[in-house]
Amino acid sequence: MRNTLIAGNWKMNGSTSANAELVSGINAGAPATDSVELLVCPPFPYLAAVLADTAGSKVAVGAQNVSAHESGAFTGEVAPSMLADLGCEYVIVGHSERRTLYGETSVDVAAKFKAALGAGLRPILCIGETLEEREAGQTEAVVDEQLDAVIESVGIANFATAVIAYEPVWAIGTGMTATPEQAQDVHAHIRSRLAKHDAAIAESTQILYGGSMKGENAAGLLAKADIDGGLIGGASLQAADFLAIANAAAQG
Ligand code: PEP
Repeated sequence: MRNTLIAGNWKMNGSTSANAELVSGINAGAPATDSVELLVCPPFPYLAAVLADTAGSKVAVGAQNVSAHESGAFTGEVAPSMLADLGCEYVIVGHSERRTLYGETSVDVAAKFKAALGAGLRPILCIGETLEEREAGQTEAVVDEQLDAVIESVGIANFATAVIAYEPVWAIGTGMTATPEQAQDVHAHIRSRLAKHDAAIAESTQILYGGSMKGENAAGLLAKADIDGGLIGGASLQAADFLAIANAAAQG
């Protein structure tokens, strides 16, 4: 049985004081059940402070991006070993904003995924189609390409500690959520794609949904058989909003 992971992607938001308030609210209201795991992914400069504020709590900490390189002349980049050294457990790779705004290809994303694993981090691999691709009937082909690039690079066995986030680009930050049925269809497809390589990995891998998830729609999405949590942007910035999703997961 897979645990439910509720992960907040804070993107480029926050401040020292706002983050402290947010984390304190999440710590105070986190559902006690072990079957719901919580994760927050702050911007790089705040990782150490958030790690300190979550120490001993059930809230894990991850980064939003990572270099594929280990060290050296890569101005402005952050190595996977640095994130692990700080105490981060997870890192998001391949978020659609990285693919679209910073030109990251599936090959780049696979290299980051591999580097993250090498440092002992748990990568959260984001995949998903644009509205044009969905309307053209290409959803499965797009997620296959994004997933296969990573499977080919690292091998299916290396998905044992990874998480996948299906994030339809048209639902991110738009208020347009995929229906539970639309999301479940793609999640089931992703799991069957994994199963072609390794049935046990497919069964154990958490597949999160991301795209305007909030308290009001979380229960319907999380009730679906292959939806194992959420990657949440906007609704992760206020403790009450984030906890509404976490509590929906705990009641499911
Ligand atoms: C995201 O950025 O991963 C995301 C899902 O954002 P939002 O919840 O705001 O749509």
